[in-house]
Amino acid sequence: MKALVKTSRLKNALERLDVKRPIIQDDEVLVQVVNVAICGTDLHVYEFTAGYDFIQTPLILGHEFSGYIAEVGSKVVNFHVGDRVIGESNRYCGQCDNCNNGRTDICLDSQMTGLHVNGAMAEYIAVPAYTLHHLPNNLPFSVGAIAQPISVSLNAVFDNCNLNTGDNVVIFGPGIQGLSAAQAARIKGASKVAIVGTDNDEEIRLPIAKEMGFDTFNVNQESINQQLLTIWDGKEVDVVIDASGSIHAVKDGMSLLKRGGHLTLFGIYPRTLELDLTSLVRRNITIHTSYTSQWKHYEQALKFLSKRQIDISALIKEYPFEEFEKAFEDGIAKTVLKPVLTLSQ
Ligand SMILES: [Zn+2]
Ligand SMILES: [Zn+2]
Repeated sequence: MKALVKTSRLKNALERLDVKRPIIQDDEVLVQVVNVAICGTDLHVYEFTAGYDFIQTPLILGHEFSGYIAEVGSKVVNFHVGDRVIGESNRYCGQCDNCNNGRTDICLDSQMTGLHVNGAMAEYIAVPAYTLHHLPNNLPFSVGAIAQPISVSLNAVFDNCNLNTGDNVVIFGPGIQGLSAAQAARIKGASKVAIVGTDNDEEIRLPIAKEMGFDTFNVNQESINQQLLTIWDGKEVDVVIDASGSIHAVKDGMSLLKRGGHLTLFGIYPRTLELDLTSLVRRNITIHTSYTSQWKHYEQALKFLSKRQIDISALIKEYPFEEFEKAFEDGIAKTVLKPVLTLSQ
């Protein structure tokens, strides 16, 4: 079968190769991949930037995928050949304390599809049946493929940010995570939601955020504090969520929060940050973090996508599998928010 293989640790060493189709275990399912999305992580691995030293090559990339079931193992009961499915990226152990307490998102012994084990940028992928979800009939495979990043935003907003009905929320980073987090905040009953970006977001991302009905700010052009006071009639910020991974955003976010406010971090931060802890204590700011997601967040993501309460279809661009280089390069250049490869129809 054809596959995209990270062949070495060299920058951009990603090749289209013919490899053996995986053989499934009794508790596994073979999925014929229809769509696989390229995420920021894949771009980092493609370029082999710092923080991914644990990766063993050769490795088939891809952890955001959808497809049809082609084969089921003898012990699999919930899935059948021909079912439309999407896959979770996290293969949790199911046996550690955290898993036993329902916190599979922070399993002590988890593996990620496409990072620790071969991924979905291939015609077929073998996965444990417990990592699959049925794709609702009204959702195209390309949208189903991005249920994974949306599930991550839902974990942050629903379970890790203390957002209450009527709260005012500011979200940093108008990418797929920030935009889906903003829609999730609305679902959770937020009163006002603003999205903050930079000059880089001026052309594509901030206009999409505005189109979705959110207040938008460009930190490079304006003082958010001042602007918020004006457009929100002096209303205070209860919750700040950072999906940007920028320490500048974290600093700005902290200064925006009201006394007793809550900050949630779910970006990946390439730089460290020095904090004035006393000022945080005096203002009684609570900091939360959120990482990956659980089974329920995928089910929620599929439900909200299928009801269009979360709609990020404007961010997706599909590429034929053979044009993978262009898809990766467009992703790196940020001219496309969510490149999605099409393997089959
Ligand atoms: Zn991802
Ligand atoms: Zn575990």
